[in-house]
Amino acid sequence: MKPVIALVGRPNVGKSTLFNRLTKSRDAIVADFAGLTRDRHYGDGRLGSREFIVIDTGGFEPDSSTGIVREMAKQTRQAVAEADVVVFVTDVRLGLSAQDMEISRYLRQANKRVLLVVNKAEGMQESPLLAEFHELGLGEPMPVSAAHGQGIRSLVEAALDMV
Ligand code: GDP
Ligand code: MG
Repeated sequence: MKPVIALVGRPNVGKSTLFNRLTKSRDAIVADFAGLTRDRHYGDGRLGSREFIVIDTGGFEPDSSTGIVREMAKQTRQAVAEADVVVFVTDVRLGLSAQDMEISRYLRQANKRVLLVVNKAEGMQESPLLAEFHELGLGEPMPVSAAHGQGIRSLVEAALDMV
């Protein structure tokens, strides 16, 4: 079975951009508006001979009667349950938020392997701004840039090594 990597994080941190990077697809909707990706979304990824499945989250069913926020939370829970490794995506430009703290609490009690990624870190590999993400208690934050393709190989290697 291919390992399953779920991308989790608050809206607009770059999960769909990262999904497209990892799967080299354009299928996920990348939005300038928070929460626009419509469905939980699966894609195939590969690093050399190692294959994996990626789940994008943060969407909602257009006809959802449960409301957008609840639907997003539900999708996140389902993706986490299905995942071998959760890639928790945060945003160095927006900084650490209360929502990030809430997600990290959820992930810790879900008892999953979690790789903490700080996105939008192009040109910021050594930035002191990365340090505050240690507060999440999920280990060393890994800086990446989904949009610019920086740190992606290291991310995949680290995630697959956790399986
Ligand atoms: P999602 O809501 O978490 O799926 O986020 P999206 O992938 O839709 O991206 C939200 C916004 O962040 C879009 O405007 C992206 O172009 C932008 N973005 C994504 N990755 C990066 C990155 O590595 N660097 C920068 N500067 N912007 C990014
Ligand atoms: Mg998205």
